[in-house]
Amino acid sequence: MSRFPLDLGSPGWEYAPAPEARTVARLDAGAQGRLFIGGTWQDAADGATFPTHSPATDEHLADVALAGGTDVDRAVAAARAALPAWSGLPGAERAKLLFRLARMLQERAREFAVLEVLDNGKPIRETRDFDVPTAAAHLFHHAGWADKLDHAGLGPAPRPVGVVGAIVPWNFPLLMLAWKVAPALASGSTVVLKPAETTPLTALRFAELCEQADLPPGVLNVVTGAGATGAALVRHPGVDKIAFTGSTAVGKDIQRTLAGTDRRLTLELGGKAANIVFADAPIDETIEGIVDGIFFNQGHVCCAGSRLLVEEPVHDLVVERLTRRIGTLRLGDPLDKNTDVGAINSPAQLARIRELADVGEAEGAQRWTADCPLPERGNWFPPTVFTGVSQSSRIAQEEIFGPVLSVLTFRTPDEAVTKANNTPYGLSAGIWTEKGARILWMADRLRAGVVWANTFNRFDPASPFGGVKESGFGREGGRQGLHAYLEPSADRGGIDG
Ligand code: NAP
Ligand code: MG
Repeated sequence: MSRFPLDLGSPGWEYAPAPEARTVARLDAGAQGRLFIGGTWQDAADGATFPTHSPATDEHLADVALAGGTDVDRAVAAARAALPAWSGLPGAERAKLLFRLARMLQERAREFAVLEVLDNGKPIRETRDFDVPTAAAHLFHHAGWADKLDHAGLGPAPRPVGVVGAIVPWNFPLLMLAWKVAPALASGSTVVLKPAETTPLTALRFAELCEQADLPPGVLNVVTGAGATGAALVRHPGVDKIAFTGSTAVGKDIQRTLAGTDRRLTLELGGKAANIVFADAPIDETIEGIVDGIFFNQGHVCCAGSRLLVEEPVHDLVVERLTRRIGTLRLGDPLDKNTDVGAINSPAQLARIRELADVGEAEGAQRWTADCPLPERGNWFPPTVFTGVSQSSRIAQEEIFGPVLSVLTFRTPDEAVTKANNTPYGLSAGIWTEKGARILWMADRLRAGVVWANTFNRFDPASPFGGVKESGFGREGGRQGLHAYLEPSADRGGIDG
């Protein structure tokens, strides 16, 4: 008998199931959905739970424990209890565990990639090729630091900051976890992590990895819940540092809560990046960079290039080429590896995008929408471009956090700088031009934590990322990012970083 029986009567061959089929990610196993505290899986003290859904299909994925004040107390106590032994380990021992976690994440990359797609709605191409590998890269990078902290620029024997409360958003759930957990563990600190309400699943799966890697109990704790769980963590006096990524409004709230205490804080907040195109920019590469800048992760990206500033003579050409290219993007099933644009993470986020897009139109900008059918179920918004946007328009000032691009023009480099800097944010910016001297001149004047030239959305664990102005303070990645988890040794006051 043939190993591959073919039905010769059928019009064509069936495709084999994709290696990233949803069956590679288990949703229902015992540990899943409970809090990970002190190395054990626990229900919330009051038994409360909340559901998490697939944004692409509305399917109910799992019920997850809703941590209240008592649970946060327990998690902080567990992290505190684990601190002396963890920080007392030789750095090389902590490094071994971080290397082990990084390798395990690589080995189970497919499972994490699919789970992130299901819970978040972003395309598998992105979780498979970006989120999971970059998260593993952060673990590898910081594993390398764990036994070299004497060379981090804080003098000999820097001390860990202590118990870290890490609060992350839904747009890159696993990656934002790695950005915080990797340097914290390398430094000898311990962590209580609060994932976002709509995307708790990969954090819980990561906690399973920690258990399997024999990370000592209490070194990483995960408390799932909503904003109130995060607020309880922020207020908790047993937390030495809060590492927050999220919206500027919540960041300000946290800063008010911590004001006057000696607890440390880093804030990675929103953005409204200018992507600046000069007339001499190579057009094909630039179009790809603009598309990547705003439609990567459906525009749910803090550093998204959401304001396109185009030099006036090439405005029409750029808009024409850009809309033609956007018309080829495929929106739909995020588990299909050909999908470019996935689902909007939540009904609330979809409502906000719709509201701001309507405001753009009401304020007089011209709206162009890609002609692509939207699936019937789930949360979807088509790629959209606004031209004729004025600087004062809300779609030029406020973070939309969706697949919506606002196009403005400029005539001189000075005008480009003035317009680029004219928002409350300062996270990132992009420059497209053939002239190296102009890139340097512009980069010097742009008020942004990260400036990309002739590329966009590039990340490396060795390169610090973070904002200025209302985009926050503190850096993640690189030596600067590590400093956020270390104190200079007791006999040395200053920092020579
Ligand atoms: P968010 O509402 O500020 O939520 C971020 C995290 O904080 C979530 O875990 C959230 O829990 C929690 N939270 C909510 N209220 C809280 C409170 N009062 N105290 C403590 N924690 C609280 O932000 P989001 O809308 O989910 O995320 C999008 C924002 O994140 C955008 O503005 C984006 O620019 C920003 N972001 C910035 C960076 C960066 O590196 N700069 C990276 C990614 C995203 P719930 O989910 O349960 O509400
Ligand atoms: Mg979800």
